[in-house]
Amino acid sequence: MRLKDKVALITGAGSGIGRESALLFAREGAAIAVVDVNDQAGHETVAMVEQQGGRAAYCRADVSKAADCEHMIALAEKQFGKLDVLFNNAGIMHSKDDDALTTDEAIWDLTMNINAKGVFFGCKYGIPALRRAGGGSIINTASFVALLGAATPQIAYTASKGAVLSLTRELAVIHAKEDIRVNALCPGPLRTPLLMSFLDTDEKKQRRLVHIPMGRFGEAKEIAYAAVYLASDESSYVTGTEFLVDGGLTAAYVTPQ
Ligand code: NAD
Repeated sequence: MRLKDKVALITGAGSGIGRESALLFAREGAAIAVVDVNDQAGHETVAMVEQQGGRAAYCRADVSKAADCEHMIALAEKQFGKLDVLFNNAGIMHSKDDDALTTDEAIWDLTMNINAKGVFFGCKYGIPALRRAGGGSIINTASFVALLGAATPQIAYTASKGAVLSLTRELAVIHAKEDIRVNALCPGPLRTPLLMSFLDTDEKKQRRLVHIPMGRFGEAKEIAYAAVYLASDESSYVTGTEFLVDGGLTAAYVTPQ
């Protein structure tokens, strides 16, 4: 088992990448602290993990709130005795996130608070726990838009993911000697509720698909397989990376039709 005896906390584990990762990490031997703001979805993930014979506990935490993040780390340590893997994955893409001219300040603040400040809080309270465990792995979910301009405007989201990538690099350098690895997982466009509700017409979906050499959206499970590698000791020399899983999107100049 690739994560035998490890404890992993996953934010946004009620859906998409977070849920698939919870299920995969548990199959590989980890105990999972499932964190979300959607209680029903969080409890469902716990039940799914338990159904496959794994161990999981739900903790409600809004990652944009410092006290909630402090609490989720404490709960993971209390429940499972330690923390080895911190997967800061929760994020939003607001339907009113658009270009600089039309996006309201409130949408900008909401997006930055969850997507960027949420990762900061996860690390602020999670790093002491990883130290207590003698080291560990932090995975921060960024996006391909941290590297490329998005073809559909989403200015707050794009800026938030740029922040996640930058802070990941700095954290990786600062904590490298403590055996704490920090990587940014950069997915391409996925067929999850987050993106499918944002690209809510066939035309908008097509606008995104033309950029992907593989010609399809990715699946949450395909990102979970990358996350399990970054979480495990197999990636012991991997830190500070922009770990792309994007169907070839960032490699393409013009995608052959
Ligand atoms: P999703 O919408 O399926 O799941 C996100 C989960 O996060 C939900 O369960 C939601 O309730 C939870 N959440 C939202 N706000 C929260 C908060 N404040 N505190 C705690 N939990 C909160 O989305 P997904 O596609 O699985 O996305 C997961 C991550 O991957 C996000 O950071 C997203 O930006 C990133 N990402 C997604 C795509 C894509 O195409 N779907 C591409 C690149 C990056």
